[in-house]
Amino acid sequence: MSLYQLTEARRVYRTGAGELAALNGIDLTIGAGEFIAVEGPSGSGKSTLLQLLGALDRPTSGSLTFDGRELSGLSDLELTRLRSNDIGFVFQSFNLIPTLTAAENVEAATVPLVRDRAARQARAADLLDRVGLKSRADHLPSRLSGGEQQRVAIARALANEPRVILADEPTGNLDSTTADEVVTTLRLLSEEQGVTVIVVTHAEEVASKAARRVRLRDGRVVSDELPVPPPKPPAPRSPRAPRKPRAPRP
Ligand code: ADP
Ligand code: MG
Repeated sequence: MSLYQLTEARRVYRTGAGELAALNGIDLTIGAGEFIAVEGPSGSGKSTLLQLLGALDRPTSGSLTFDGRELSGLSDLELTRLRSNDIGFVFQSFNLIPTLTAAENVEAATVPLVRDRAARQARAADLLDRVGLKSRADHLPSRLSGGEQQRVAIARALANEPRVILADEPTGNLDSTTADEVVTTLRLLSEEQGVTVIVVTHAEEVASKAARRVRLRDGRVVSDELPVPPPKPPAPRSPRAPRKPRAPRP
């Protein structure tokens, strides 16, 4: 079964100037464990879509199901519960606490989830390991590169063992080398750890690493592509036909 199913989903904002359909009929199926890039020009509805997927908002009309549950009918409390159980968020700004080490930043996110201090520390160490930052655990954010800081933020987003990570322009503040580290980390979460990862991005080098690219324009999906598959390996050679006996030399 798919993890998310959007059918004719619309999100209309009422503004002073009238109604604006930020999402205008989205049909999208997302399977568990996928790694998807959401692209599109500014104002095309990317952040609005992410907010729906993150149960921060509901469609105005149409259907959005998560794991078979219709979200448009859930109360605020039920949406909050779903977010805290199943969703992790990563943003463009890392929002780490500057006076806490990497490990302490992650540990802080486990406070509501794990009672025992030692268990929290072990959990934080494990989460940093999952994003490849074990060796940086004792560093303050100011001693980490931008890419490392964002990976700490990803570890923090994993604190509740979410099934989904939603990232809105996670590499927007990074140069292309450190952006690459962050995308690789997200990709491994999806490929090796089964987390569903959905990344909004403007960066081609980020989107091209996703397993699937969804493009929005004016609140609609205008393309939904799996990457070009690698060329097929050559077909196994058929056993060689027996050679013709050579003509005897004159
Ligand atoms: P993107 O993330 O692709 O830039 P958004 O989802 O933020 O696009 O916005 C889509 C459209 O909806 C834009 O025209 C934006 O101005 C409008 N919009 C977004 N949020 C609101 C809001 N809270 N109230 C009114 N209009 C909004
Ligand atoms: Mg946006």
